[in-house]
Amino acid sequence: MAERMLQFVTQPQVQPEKRGADERRHDFGEIYKGFVRTRAEEQASRCSQCGIPFCSVHCPLGNNIPDWLKLTAEDRLQEAYEMSSATNTFPEICGRICPQDRLCEGNCVIEKGFESVTIGAVERFITENAFEQGWVKPSMPERELGRSVGIVGAGPAGLACAERLRALGYEVHVYDRHDRVGGLMVYGIPSFKLEKTVIARRHALLEQQGIVFHLSTPIGAADGETSLDELRNRHEAVFLGTGVYRSREVQVPGAGLNGVVDAIDFLTASNRRGYDEDPGEDLALHAKGRRVVVIGGGDTAMDCVRTSIRQGAENVVCVYRRDRENMPGSRQEVGNAEEEGVKFEWLAAPEAFVGDQKVGGVRVQKMRLGAPDATGRRSIEATGQHSVVEGDLVIRALGFDPEDLPALWQQPDLAVTRWGTLKVAPGGFETSLEGVFAGGDIVRGASLVVWAIRDGRDAAESIHHYMTQTAAAEAAE
Ligand code: FAD
Ligand code: SF4
Ligand code: SF4
Repeated sequence: MAERMLQFVTQPQVQPEKRGADERRHDFGEIYKGFVRTRAEEQASRCSQCGIPFCSVHCPLGNNIPDWLKLTAEDRLQEAYEMSSATNTFPEICGRICPQDRLCEGNCVIEKGFESVTIGAVERFITENAFEQGWVKPSMPERELGRSVGIVGAGPAGLACAERLRALGYEVHVYDRHDRVGGLMVYGIPSFKLEKTVIARRHALLEQQGIVFHLSTPIGAADGETSLDELRNRHEAVFLGTGVYRSREVQVPGAGLNGVVDAIDFLTASNRRGYDEDPGEDLALHAKGRRVVVIGGGDTAMDCVRTSIRQGAENVVCVYRRDRENMPGSRQEVGNAEEEGVKFEWLAAPEAFVGDQKVGGVRVQKMRLGAPDATGRRSIEATGQHSVVEGDLVIRALGFDPEDLPALWQQPDLAVTRWGTLKVAPGGFETSLEGVFAGGDIVRGASLVVWAIRDGRDAAESIHHYMTQTAAAEAAE
């Protein structure tokens, strides 16, 4: 091992090649290229094989990172794939879109003094190579259990849960109101971060595994919707992975002006156009030739500014009330946005959308940073200086809250927390309704794909346990 590994002292970190800003700002193709084999093996060999691997500790899936890095460095790529896919349902997706700087790579010990191992890019390579070699196969059940589970939501939580349950032998039915599988991975995250073919390839595998998809099938209590009670009658257990979709409001005057839109509507329309679909609205949600102002400092805001650039906006400004150091979004994404031509108005708090019928800009007040609060995050104070950031398309990207599911679904006994997320049993995934489980954003609040995968996998274990117990109880009757 010693010869192959520990190369970080002599071997510098190399990031995957990034397409130049002048090229990429005109299309929606992924901006990072994958590693070639020799590069992946060389970069994996930088790992120092820590006794306590902090990279794994900080990976939400607890991935066995040092072991699959070592196998990669030794050119044992099939074993590396088997090990990496044992803990992660969609490693090629996490390798692309996990915020690695806050998770595995940000906690790599060689980060101190040297630069971290490029874990995400190696993970992506391992699975892409496995697809090319034909090693990625659906996990077929050894026997059919003759019992079924209904899953609401074809996002990463629902899909990961479905994949595990089907492998155990359950009949699995996934219901989604959208016409495509993937949840926010399809209609939220732009394809310059995650190309849609990557999701379609997984969809095909899940179908081969025998999972039945019921798309364009909303669950709820409105006309034409299938009710939760109906699903509970149809299946022995149900998993809810419905995500969070209620856009947070900017509580300022002028929100009703023409040209003020929500991030999710803007991004969904853009993603639909990527499928060569006409989203049907009169370009109200298109940035071409417009002066765009995006409000917010998170990853959704970064996706909106970068989508606007690609759609041919005249100029794009991101308005955020704190500064670069105190924003929630990834630094890497801010850097990418700046390279592509986005301007940032830091320390600017929106006060009003201005205009007459049509929006003409956002009036902002300049802020300054104050003392840190109990969490260490610095507060902001008003300076009394006002200005207007001009724009004729204003996109609100302040995050998402859960919809009121008990009211929407007419399920008053479905317990929620004070934030509106579904309440689940401590340390488990069962909701207040017997046999109904939940995970992903609808339980955590807006989070990450990798956490949704973790929840889906763990919830599948809980559901299996529940099904085994109920089957035993039925047999004893
Ligand atoms: P979702 O992915 O939201 O899936 C929920 C599914 O349930 C959807 O398909 C929806 O149609 C369906 N559904 C909802 N209600 C019903 C109903 N009543 N009936 C039937 N179906 C229903 N995370 C990262 O890790 N990296 C990123 O780079 C990243 N970028 C992001 C960019 C944007 C713009 C956004 C909005 C989010 C981003 N995230 C990112 C977060 C990530 O997408 C989510 O945390 C993750 O998708 C949550 O998975 P989920 O399965 O819980 O829910
Ligand atoms: Fe890192 Fe995400 Fe992969 Fe875990 S799943 S190793 S956090 S890229
Ligand atoms: Fe290797 Fe870094 Fe993980 Fe240590 S923390 S095992 S060096 S990847």
